[in-house]
Amino acid sequence: MNITRGEAAQLMVENICPFCFHKGNTVPIITVKSILKPKGLERFYPYAQHYFCTNPACVVIYFDQHENVYEKHDIKVSVKDRGAPICYCFDWTKEKLELGVKGGIDPFNYIRIMVLASRNACELLNPEGHTCLEKVSEFIKEFENEDSKW
Ligand SMILES: [Zn+2]
Repeated sequence: MNITRGEAAQLMVENICPFCFHKGNTVPIITVKSILKPKGLERFYPYAQHYFCTNPACVVIYFDQHENVYEKHDIKVSVKDRGAPICYCFDWTKEKLELGVKGGIDPFNYIRIMVLASRNACELLNPEGHTCLEKVSEFIKEFENEDSKW
């Protein structure tokens, strides 16, 4: 490796949440613009790289490479809360997903078909800026496993 220690530290620090030190995932700038409330937009840096803090217990939703942070009260949608949607485009909460599966319908396939038809608007509506399919599938597996324990 030909990078200095300082450079390495900088590379590593950039996507780490300044509050909780968990890793953040990169988010498209259009997502941040769409999700921030006016007060958040007034102070945000449109040319900075933004990250979504993946720690469910952290109040920070977005931070940028300069360590500016945007918390729950800076954004328009419910996230990291009980009852927050998993699929923001078609409004599937955990509760609704569970009811759907128990009722014999396949929410994952429903959402997948919508995505394949390009009817999704993930980069504008999902605060993480990408499709929810992975999360939906994880959640369905999780509660199916819980169910089978009983
Ligand atoms: Zn955090």
